[in-house]
Amino acid sequence: MADFIELNTKKLLENAHIGVVIHRWDTSIIYANPTSLRLLRLNYKQIIGKSSKDPQWRFIDESGKKLLIEDYPVNKVKRTKKRLKNEVLGVLDSSADTISWFFINAYFEGEPDSPETFIVVTFTDISDSKQLFSFQAIVENTQDMVVVTEASEIDYPLSPRIIYVNKAFEKMTGYKKEDVIGETPRILQGALTDKQTTDRIHQKLENFQEVSETLLNYDANGRPYWIDMNIIPLKNKYGQVTHFAAIERDISERKFHLEQLENKHNEFKKLKTELENLIDKRTKELQTANAKLEKIAYYDPLTNIPNRRFFIDHAHRLIKSCLRRDSLVAFGLLDIDDFKVFNDTYGHDAGDIVLVEIAKYLNGFFRVDDAFCRYGGEEFAFVAAIKEADDASRLADRLLNGIRNLKVTLNTSTQISVTISMGIRVSLPSEDLDLEKGLKDADITLYHSKGEGKNQVNITFDHK
Ligand code: GH3
Ligand code: MG
Ligand code: MG
Repeated sequence: MADFIELNTKKLLENAHIGVVIHRWDTSIIYANPTSLRLLRLNYKQIIGKSSKDPQWRFIDESGKKLLIEDYPVNKVKRTKKRLKNEVLGVLDSSADTISWFFINAYFEGEPDSPETFIVVTFTDISDSKQLFSFQAIVENTQDMVVVTEASEIDYPLSPRIIYVNKAFEKMTGYKKEDVIGETPRILQGALTDKQTTDRIHQKLENFQEVSETLLNYDANGRPYWIDMNIIPLKNKYGQVTHFAAIERDISERKFHLEQLENKHNEFKKLKTELENLIDKRTKELQTANAKLEKIAYYDPLTNIPNRRFFIDHAHRLIKSCLRRDSLVAFGLLDIDDFKVFNDTYGHDAGDIVLVEIAKYLNGFFRVDDAFCRYGGEEFAFVAAIKEADDASRLADRLLNGIRNLKVTLNTSTQISVTISMGIRVSLPSEDLDLEKGLKDADITLYHSKGEGKNQVNITFDHK
């Protein structure tokens, strides 16, 4: 039985794919199998009988630091009297500067401190899987926040579960690793986080797609911050997505400045529009006010025909043009008969209606060139260019008749008519022809019409 074990053990060691080196308790090497020689790039002679203090090889730890001799696996076992399990060590070989990485296991067989005791050290080559630098260290120390979550059941309110956050995350959010491991990233979202964005993210994660979004999150103290985030689905060796890694960058400052710029821009735009509107409004108001003023200045507010001021201006020009075209000038005044009685009978409002209706009639009666107006209370005046003296009586007759026949509707049951009396003065055009004088003469003539029974015209001439 003992022979069987001895035989098989030796053969086993010779053929093993694992490196095996056997030391005595004093650390001198009594056996190294072929794999260990190959892995350590030494030959049998170079190794047998050497103690661990022989600097033929140099061990380094995972961070690349040179191992102290007392921390060599064999010395460590000897010192601590404990076995080593899967310790990662690199071996710098003497010939080349390449590093071979191994899982080291070591134990002793027998009583400590006894020359009969062996220390067995085994090497498993992991160079292929061992990087020269640590990605973990990069992720852990990068300035960007890194959050890794599980990919399962992301619909659950507490999912996806966070399984890793790096230092930058802790620094930025104020949450400690232990606060957030097992929580969902949703704890970072709050009232102003855009729902559409989170919905979009959710949708993509459900389909195991990459995400690229800008999002408002909140730190442990409730302070909002903006992040640009990329989420990458991580797959296992069967191609199944098992995790999501979110890489997030704080862009609050950039976003803040952008927003400020945008706000300023919008404010200016708003201000500009407001100003434009104001100018527009004021211009319109001014135009309306001007139009109103013009009306007030030139038109009679009740009847909306020219007032005395407009009439005087127009009449002066008309008189001058009569001189140029050698026309006669007719000055006319007309006055409603017994209007006081009318007002007393039908009321002042009815009187107003009559005034408006007569004004309308006059407006249609006179030509564009003729000057006419409401001269006062119930008096109207006109100046007209006429070709011959008879034109004055023809004009007067038409006018008297027209107004006589005017039917003014006061209400559904009452229709009334009024009469007027008129005085006309016809003058030859001359340089010193005077409006005031002409109207005064017309007034005298009107007075005669009243005196002679009203509802008639009298015409006088300065040249007959
Ligand atoms: P006559 O035939 O002699 O002209 O008599 P009359 O009553 O028309 O003349 P009078 O000068 O005595 O009275 C004029 C009246 O016209 C008095 C006034 O109440 C009325 N009147 C003047 N302006 C207005 C007005 O704007 N609206 C109304 N409803 N009446 C007016
Ligand atoms: Mg009068
Ligand atoms: Mg009158």
